[in-house]
Amino acid sequence: MEFSVFAETAYELEKTSSRLAMIEILSKLFKQADKDNIQKLIYLLQGRVAPPFEGIEVGMGEKFVEKAISISTGYTIAQVEAAFRKKGDLGSAAEQLVEKKKQTALSSEPLTVEGVFDSLLKIAKTSGEGSQDKKIKLLSDLLNRASPLEAKYLVRIPLANLQLGVGDPTMMDALSVAVKGDNSLREEIERAYNLSSDLGTVAKNLYEGKRKLGEIKLFNPIRPALAERENDPAAILKRHKTTIADLKLDGFRLQIHKKGDRVMLFSRRLEDMTHSFPDVVEIVKKNVKADEAIIDSEALAYNEATGEIYPFQYTIQRKRKHGVAEKAEELPLHIFAFDIMYLDGESLIDLPYKERRKKLEKIIKKDGISVMESIITSDLKELERFFKKSIEVGAEGVVCKDPESIYKAGMRGFNWIKLKRSYKGELADTIDVVIVGYFYGKGARAEFKFGGFLGAVYDEDEDVFRTVTRVGSGFSEEMMVKLREMLEKIKTKDKPARVDSLIEPDVWVKPMYVVTIKADEITESPMHTAGRKGETGYALRFPRMVGDIRDDKRPEDATTVSEIIRMFKLQKHTAVQSSTEA
Ligand code: ATP
Repeated sequence: MEFSVFAETAYELEKTSSRLAMIEILSKLFKQADKDNIQKLIYLLQGRVAPPFEGIEVGMGEKFVEKAISISTGYTIAQVEAAFRKKGDLGSAAEQLVEKKKQTALSSEPLTVEGVFDSLLKIAKTSGEGSQDKKIKLLSDLLNRASPLEAKYLVRIPLANLQLGVGDPTMMDALSVAVKGDNSLREEIERAYNLSSDLGTVAKNLYEGKRKLGEIKLFNPIRPALAERENDPAAILKRHKTTIADLKLDGFRLQIHKKGDRVMLFSRRLEDMTHSFPDVVEIVKKNVKADEAIIDSEALAYNEATGEIYPFQYTIQRKRKHGVAEKAEELPLHIFAFDIMYLDGESLIDLPYKERRKKLEKIIKKDGISVMESIITSDLKELERFFKKSIEVGAEGVVCKDPESIYKAGMRGFNWIKLKRSYKGELADTIDVVIVGYFYGKGARAEFKFGGFLGAVYDEDEDVFRTVTRVGSGFSEEMMVKLREMLEKIKTKDKPARVDSLIEPDVWVKPMYVVTIKADEITESPMHTAGRKGETGYALRFPRMVGDIRDDKRPEDATTVSEIIRMFKLQKHTAVQSSTEA
């Protein structure tokens, strides 16, 4: 397939904000694909050359990309930089410079999707001495043969800045339409994706006519199951009758894969974290008594001697690129395992939770890893006592699991229900929003050129981001500088296609970063588009940012519109609120 078809599709996608139109544009592209190129096409549309969990990134710094543009167009670095400054985006700068190109291309052979993919993969895999020069050469060779429009998108991929505004749900719908003419394959595609987290391979299997589009495989992360909310134990027992209530500890989620002595660890957004946690790898090797296993767990800084759970501020210090070993020594992690999805050659996801748990208990030895503390009960008083105890021991609350339920990969459902501690006058749960724009500061904030941001939640049905709040507090001066710097790099001239907003921030940004917000209440509001029916949507009252950027969450992992609606309904009940106020 010629790369120009990809570039033209990308251009059309960027222009539209209608989901139906996006599905149509994409399905037209997918119809032209075949079993040999569909996988590459899907990864390229995601701006990648491999699924995220493989950790293969094209990644080149701006300076090196500028150099490649300079070599291929004959313009000086200073001229490339000037065009970049003027356009605000290197992709558009490359488009303009290729258009005005001084040198004539040596080869006029058109670029193909396959060829571009293979070269980008080569760039990703080039390392060691002289690797930057080799990468620049590979990119400038591609740019030499590129049309202006092709250059625009080519340049954005190594900058991790492609962002065509299509999420996975839209891609899955388009695949179904391309193959079947309607969305009847969507469910099957989604199930396969949830098990394998690799849409490229799922699409390839689909085009090859395989019976199974995706399955659980070791070292291929499973999309995590997620919890719904209730805000009192009685409501939970209405749904579960008998429930297995686990502690809900506040660390970070780790999906552990093990085969013999080989161990891999994946984050909530399915990135490979193995090298960040060498201590956990050792614990798993020694104390998980199974040859093959996939385990779901929460990792936490924990004092093994006293059994004290450390607050999240300690645990988060373990997320670092440098000084990994020193920090591991200072703040060792403990693994609290709460589920098992695979054991010695067999998928366990269709077994009831109570049975998965028994299997988990059998293979977990102590020392650095234990099964999450829990009770099984159908008694309200007992559940209330356990919830109270959870707060006393420093947990966030409980996650109650239906003992009969299967592991629903990639789904938020009432099989798991979280119940968190809440304070009077405050929402029981925090909300994760995607930043879609920011405002210049006024008064004292003017010097930072940052006064706050516009936050949106994710609409799963439409695959777009809808605003829910304007946040102007909770961050330090240092954080303001950091946010402004990060957001400046992803600003866009116009509102991004996938953002639905009635408010116009001073600067629009690509929906990339997720932050956690605390608020007092969810209110109805004419200003925001989240859950909007007629003239009213939902907004947060007294929002303030907590913590840092949530780099463990992708934009699509932000709180969803349906969760906001659910939380709005729940806030009317206040049964357990503040009984445990600290
Ligand atoms: P949150 O921000 O509340 O952690 P989330 O969106 O990451 O929410 P949810 O499914 O809503 O995910 O809440 C469950 C989360 O709580 C898991 O992602 C996991 O990290 C954490 N957790 C802690 N203890 C448990 C447990 N016993 N069972 C399941 N998840 C647990």
